[in-house]
Amino acid sequence: MEIIHHGAASGVTGSCHELVVSEDVSVLIDIGLFQGAETSGSEGARGGSNENNQAIDFSIERVKALIITHCHIDHVGRLPWLLIAGFRGPIFCTRATAHLLPMVIEDALKVGMTRNREVIQGVLGTLASMLTPADFDDWVQVLPELKVRFRQAGHILGSAYVECQKMGSLSRSSGTLASALPTKAIDYPEVNKVPELHLTDPNFLVVFSGDLGCKNSPLLPDPTPLERADMLVLESTYGDKNHENRSERQARLKRVVERCVKDRGAVLIPAFSIGRTQELLYELEDIIFECKSREGAREGNIWQDIIVIVDSPMAAEFTRQYRKMRDLWDAEALGRVADDRHPLNFKRMHIVDTHAEHHRLVNYLKSTGEPCIVIAASGMCTGGRMVNYLRALLPDPRTDVLFVGYQAAGTPGRDIQTYGPGGGYVELEGQRIWIKAQIHTLGGYSAHADQQELIDFIANAEQVKHVRLVHGDANVQREFRGVLQHRFPNMKIDCACDQ
Ligand SMILES: [Zn+2]
Ligand SMILES: [Zn+2]
Repeated sequence: MEIIHHGAASGVTGSCHELVVSEDVSVLIDIGLFQGAETSGSEGARGGSNENNQAIDFSIERVKALIITHCHIDHVGRLPWLLIAGFRGPIFCTRATAHLLPMVIEDALKVGMTRNREVIQGVLGTLASMLTPADFDDWVQVLPELKVRFRQAGHILGSAYVECQKMGSLSRSSGTLASALPTKAIDYPEVNKVPELHLTDPNFLVVFSGDLGCKNSPLLPDPTPLERADMLVLESTYGDKNHENRSERQARLKRVVERCVKDRGAVLIPAFSIGRTQELLYELEDIIFECKSREGAREGNIWQDIIVIVDSPMAAEFTRQYRKMRDLWDAEALGRVADDRHPLNFKRMHIVDTHAEHHRLVNYLKSTGEPCIVIAASGMCTGGRMVNYLRALLPDPRTDVLFVGYQAAGTPGRDIQTYGPGGGYVELEGQRIWIKAQIHTLGGYSAHADQQELIDFIANAEQVKHVRLVHGDANVQREFRGVLQHRFPNMKIDCACDQ
């Protein structure tokens, strides 16, 4: 089997890999949006030259199905463009992802393409007819010659890594393919058109990691250990770093917020609507709960009356969905619920829904400097309501910006992180904004596995023959490749950026 990388080959956005099963049959794993420098091709990530160049730039003639690891925009955001290109095959993903995906796509359409209600409903209708949800750990037949299994990735709700196995040993002509397997067979019209395969290893197993989560991340279970892989296509976002542990990071979040609030002003936290926002709420609830039970009404306890604002209709909606899908939470989170706590819906949490309320709030904070925590998208400051806060509040020295997620090269988030501490500026929607605010980066606050966790993921498997690194900056991929080769001298290891 051959793998072609149509995105996330030398960066962290635009995830899209084509698994070529035979000459004229392939499946796509993810169809993510390019963001930051990777949209322009300036880093050699892809062709094209303008900000909005997300059009599918490869032939989809042989693409028979789409497999989605999780519903972050950098893994699903080009789906509307895939539909425009004519793709109508089945889309396989976990049940939670199938549930969340239409909301993500609706938002992607509104932000990047159209606000026309009819068009949006048309796209969502088409999408709904293509979605084929699966349970974790079940083998699902995607094509006559390919089955896949979604395994818990512990990255966001419903996230999975995907095992893809060829089924060459089973004769297509026998007519017993579906019944011979513990899978959910789908009625796929082109079954008879698939040419005969000549496989050397009928059980060849390719694993796509999607985004792998950290151990002990809030709310979510740990990733399921990898059993084996002939080829592992592995993300490497943090292939060059190790995170601080979780208890330290929560303590650091607490300290940084306390310091920020002292001089008044807003604490702005740019965050992905899905995953990061809920993690932050979960930890903030815990800090507030602990401070209340330990310190009571002690004077100077800022946690008594701090307000946490979630300013994003999408983040609010996802938080509601996270609350609904409690069966996917981990034991600790369920324990808090049993103790009558509400990890994602606490008293001092305030949701801003309408645009009018959003603008009122931005202006209010600008004029009063009232201390509060604002969580809003986008996580890399590339758009969304966070940009309005930044434009209004970056020039105010009382403001604090807290980065808790990865900032891709070329995004305003990366620029604020890089130039902010030196009093530089950032371009936001064509406007130059000088930065007087304090800029903080909370390491260890990632939804991605770190170097050690990635190594462990491989080491725990019975056998991994070949590792292909993707979803990491080129220098990180190469550095990590060296680390892995040293640790696993007999393994074949290469980088997508060098293919
Ligand atoms: Zn992700
Ligand atoms: Zn990703």
